[in-house]
Amino acid sequence: MNGKLKRVIALAAIFIVGASTLTGCAKIEYNNDKLTIITTLFPQYDFVKQIGGDKVEVILITKPGVETHAYEPTPTDIIKINNADLFIYTGEYMEPWAQTVIDSVDNDKLYILDASDNIELFLNDDDHENEEDENEEEENEEEENEEEHSIGDGHNHEFDPHIWTDPINAKTMVDNILGALNEIDSENAEFYTTNANSYKAQLDELDNTFKAIMEKSEGKKIVFGGRFAFAYFAKRYDLEYVGAYDSCAADEDPSVKRISEIISLIGNENIPVIYYEELVEPKVAKSIAEETGIKALLLHSGHNVSKSDFDSGITYIEIMQQNAENLREGLK
Ligand SMILES: [Zn+2]
Repeated sequence: MNGKLKRVIALAAIFIVGASTLTGCAKIEYNNDKLTIITTLFPQYDFVKQIGGDKVEVILITKPGVETHAYEPTPTDIIKINNADLFIYTGEYMEPWAQTVIDSVDNDKLYILDASDNIELFLNDDDHENEEDENEEEENEEEENEEEHSIGDGHNHEFDPHIWTDPINAKTMVDNILGALNEIDSENAEFYTTNANSYKAQLDELDNTFKAIMEKSEGKKIVFGGRFAFAYFAKRYDLEYVGAYDSCAADEDPSVKRISEIISLIGNENIPVIYYEELVEPKVAKSIAEETGIKALLLHSGHNVSKSDFDSGITYIEIMQQNAENLREGLK
């Protein structure tokens, strides 16, 4: 891990020690009547709230609207994690900084949960477009194989970390969270288990919604004009996808050549919708939509949500239901 994070942790450690000897120095007070839970991304923030109800106080450490790929913890974030009852992160490929923070923890009572436990991770599949472009001109291949992509150090994934986009993986994440809550607070195990079961039933319903959409669709293919984070979702529902960007964390905009390939694909296959991701201005998707006269619609990956969605209490299920609605339009 980089030197900057080590310095941040050292600084946080000074405050943690200071807080126990001096009063009022960077001390973070939590409500002792509730479990304090720190989460890194929105999905586990929402899942733990659904299961924990009024017995938990949940903090999303990447602030609403913030781009999660570039997130690194501040000294205050590290103190918050250190003083909590439960820290839930997505996994080492989503939050490569987490292990360094975990190693620095000075609190025996803190339960640390890797939400990807028991979920099979897939390798990042940057070259998948090649397989799907078989009916396109062969000459495309060179460019797509062009280079290994080095990604900014906040979000460098050898394995694809976006497990939560598949509702069945979400159920496993819920089980992982339930296991942690039952261990920390066994007195309320029945309450947590009941909530988790009814939430998993909602996830099953969501799964059925997507299955039904895919069953009706002939093409089963979408074009994505943003950074694509739906590989687990696509695998679950046998959805083919062609993306403008190479990965979820791609820094560079797609080449003119790539964009023109996508434009011809849309024409050749009568693709009715191009999708884009949340929280950034979708300029590539919008310009392709304009050029081809098709619709541009959001496919929200849920890493994080906007401040206004957060404040209005949006849920993972609502985000995914909106995705289902938008997919119905694109998967004729
Ligand atoms: Zn991502």
